Amino acid sequence: MTEQLPRISRRIAAIAESATLKVDAKAKALQAAGRPVISFAAGEPDFATPDHIVDAAVAAARDPKNHRYTPAAGLPELREAIAAKTLKDSGLTVSPSQVVVTNGGKQAVYESFASLLDPGDEVILPTPHWTTYPEVIKLAGGVPVQVFAGADQNYLVSIEQLEAARTDRTKVLLFVSPSNPTGAVYSPEQTRAIGEWALQHGLWVITDEIYQKLVYSSTGSGQATTAVSIVEAVPELADRTILVNGVAKTYAMTGWRVGWMIGPADAIKAAGNLQSHLSSNVSNVSQRAAIAALTGSQDSVEQMRQAFDRRRQAIVAGLNAIDGIHCPTPQGAFYVYPDVSGLLGREWGGVVPGSSLELADLILDQAEVAAVPGEAFGPSGYLRFSYALGDDALAEGVARLQRVFG
Ligand code: GLU
Repeated sequence: MTEQLPRISRRIAAIAESATLKVDAKAKALQAAGRPVISFAAGEPDFATPDHIVDAAVAAARDPKNHRYTPAAGLPELREAIAAKTLKDSGLTVSPSQVVVTNGGKQAVYESFASLLDPGDEVILPTPHWTTYPEVIKLAGGVPVQVFAGADQNYLVSIEQLEAARTDRTKVLLFVSPSNPTGAVYSPEQTRAIGEWALQHGLWVITDEIYQKLVYSSTGSGQATTAVSIVEAVPELADRTILVNGVAKTYAMTGWRVGWMIGPADAIKAAGNLQSHLSSNVSNVSQRAAIAALTGSQDSVEQMRQAFDRRRQAIVAGLNAIDGIHCPTPQGAFYVYPDVSGLLGREWGGVVPGSSLELADLILDQAEVAAVPGEAFGPSGYLRFSYALGDDALAEGVARLQRVFG
């Protein structure tokens, strides 16, 4: 009997490796081998974590109280700081007991779905979507239901599309604004309309707000767009909404692994119980650093945002100068998501790419430029470029693409 059982569980064997991390690892390995690869792959700020945050971590590492287990759901001071930040930025009053500190936003996403879904429950997933969401939904037994909005819709789904995807098994709507991979930001009116639709149908909303502070003006100058939290737009949703966030993108802290989830007491209790068996507390040193990030000076956040904004404008202009690429101007995050279908089926340096997957291979070979193919996030025909890299590298990478496709 035993021989007939699969060696690896079907559930885990069905998971694909994270495409974003895979492309990033490949680019970094090529760089380490001496190849001059310019990587637009992972969404990871090129800046060092600000000094005052690092200083807090160094002090924390020397304090023996941080050498021990602490509450699985997070240090009380950090949960308090997160509650205060959530009121300020998402307009939601929560008590620290409604916060679970997680090992990065990714674990918060995992625990949110794991806490809400039973087998067969459907999750409406606006697409293009971050590569991790469908895998996590499936791991929790759920069914991802993709709702696609392309470049012609500025990557924003409509209520009509959401309604067409809703069934009596729909339990959760995933709402991500600014979006990874597209950088699209829903307007306050669109956010309110989507929130009211979810409320009307008794859905849970999981809202990933990790790029909330990285927003820019639509015109390239003037007032930045605001990514209004769906729970601020529709306060009645609070009882059925989980907010996911973290310090990684805002404070250049991807490697520190501090995220969190916030929600109603029952969902947070469930997630906290899960985490108490899964991973216990997040590294105390990282948590102390996160406290410094949230409660200290925010000047560096604005400086980094301005640098991203400058790079955003440079990459949009540079990519749109290539015949066959259509790059909408995103208003948030640090990604552009051009439609590259105009480059497919044509010959470039002896290769005829038939898909964006093949195109990504081609630009790595011929331009030594790494980008993540659209297949990681939904349909073929797109590439994701993270512009969280240095200005000079960005300019050189775009120039190489212009040479290959010139
Ligand atoms: N969230 C970032 C990205 O999309 C980091 C890599 C990952 O965890 O997927 O590139």
